[in-house]
Amino acid sequence: MAAPLLGLGGLLRRCWGRLLRAVAPAPHWGPALAVQGPACLPEPVEGPGEGSEGLLGSILWMAAPKKRRTIEVNRCRRRNPTNLIKIKRNIDVCPECGNLKEKHVLCGHCYAQVKAETRQIRKEMGKKEGGPFNAPTVETVVLYEGEKPTEKDEGKRIIERARKRPSWFTQN
Ligand SMILES: [Zn+2]
Repeated sequence: MAAPLLGLGGLLRRCWGRLLRAVAPAPHWGPALAVQGPACLPEPVEGPGEGSEGLLGSILWMAAPKKRRTIEVNRCRRRNPTNLIKIKRNIDVCPECGNLKEKHVLCGHCYAQVKAETRQIRKEMGKKEGGPFNAPTVETVVLYEGEKPTEKDEGKRIIERARKRPSWFTQN
């Protein structure tokens, strides 16, 4: 009974040693974690006259103010008349609609009105054409409610609008 047990013990020991060598071939394991730093950061260059901060430190601290400015000084700067919003003196009344507008600028209200009416006329034209690239080569006349085509409009395309003619839309 003693000899087989001894042989078994030796076999187990040899197997254990082989297993250890197979699992851990390298005698020393280093830590498998490495942190990659940002590659865009320049390495601090040690100049001859600069201290231990280097070039990076001197750049970072360049814009820092040396003294605190008092609130009086800051308010004088902020409320300087050159920094305030200018008062507009070129505001006029629109002769068409009566809204306020700048003198050299189109009236916004009138412009929006014309834009909306133009969009409606375009919609009617699209309905008549029935699709893109079907525009006729003849001139187009817009007729409003209660208007009849005259001799001048013969041969032209006629777009009808189901509303009264706006005061600003003159008839040629
Ligand atoms: Zn206007």
